[in-house]
Amino acid sequence: MPPRLGLKIDVDTLEGFQKGIPALLEILAPRGIKSSFFVALGPDNSGRAVFRVFKQQGFLEKMWRTRAPAIYGLRTMFYGTLLPAPLIGQGAGEILAALAAAGHEVGLHGYDHVHWHDHLLAMTQEEVSRELTQAQGIFASFLGREARAFAAPGWQCSAASRAALAAGGFLYGSDTRGYAPYFPRFKEQINPVLEIPTTLPTLDELLGFHGCRPEDFTALILGRLAQADLPQVLTVHAEVEGGPLGQEFATLLDGCRDEGVEFFRLEDWARELLQDQEKMPVAAVRQGRLPGRAGMVSCQGPLEAQP
Ligand SMILES: [Zn+2]
Repeated sequence: MPPRLGLKIDVDTLEGFQKGIPALLEILAPRGIKSSFFVALGPDNSGRAVFRVFKQQGFLEKMWRTRAPAIYGLRTMFYGTLLPAPLIGQGAGEILAALAAAGHEVGLHGYDHVHWHDHLLAMTQEEVSRELTQAQGIFASFLGREARAFAAPGWQCSAASRAALAAGGFLYGSDTRGYAPYFPRFKEQINPVLEIPTTLPTLDELLGFHGCRPEDFTALILGRLAQADLPQVLTVHAEVEGGPLGQEFATLLDGCRDEGVEFFRLEDWARELLQDQEKMPVAAVRQGRLPGRAGMVSCQGPLEAQP
């Protein structure tokens, strides 16, 4: 079996919508790669996110290495703080329709990305559902149907957020960092929505390490793909790989092509997996730290058989 790779592309900001998506389409189209885009559709409060990470240890060093001002642009860094937060969904219809028409999967990456990232663990199911409903309303107004897939902002999920996905009828979620698809367990409660975790480190995480260069990323991902028994999922950011690190991303894709890697959309894999739902394992979700990333993210625990 050739190695298989799913590209999960998160779009967090207006900048990501307006510049990142078109740049990514220019990279993906000539290579014939179909991927899964997850879009945040509410206010772009990314300026607040910048102040949040500013308070975290190791931030300045990482900012320097990852060239954050170049990635996010100065305007984006002040949205929601000095400048009013623009609504990402306004005027997003054409680009969403273009994504779908080009054969890419389009799912949701929340409504208010920054609010979810910072407050999810304290939110009730009703509060999460409100965010989902707002995002679905905008999504449906553009694409004529609701989104079937959800990717949590900042890889933050909880029993409440997963219950809201179940109530919202989502086919699957991609909310966590892990190693294989599963049904997430929170204490005694098993969530019925399939989870397809991100399995590979991201480009911006790797560049957070001293002395790491973009070409090291290509080598790392190709190495992991060559060893993997299961399809792998890589998270890409429209603001990063569709911005200043576009050339590095294109190099990675060309390396994958040379190794015969097959690309898939997460939704197609989810449908395949759900045909054999009873064989799907369960795993607990816990908050953990990842090398090169500031703050905690939701991580997959060890696999358990389905009860
Ligand atoms: Zn995001």
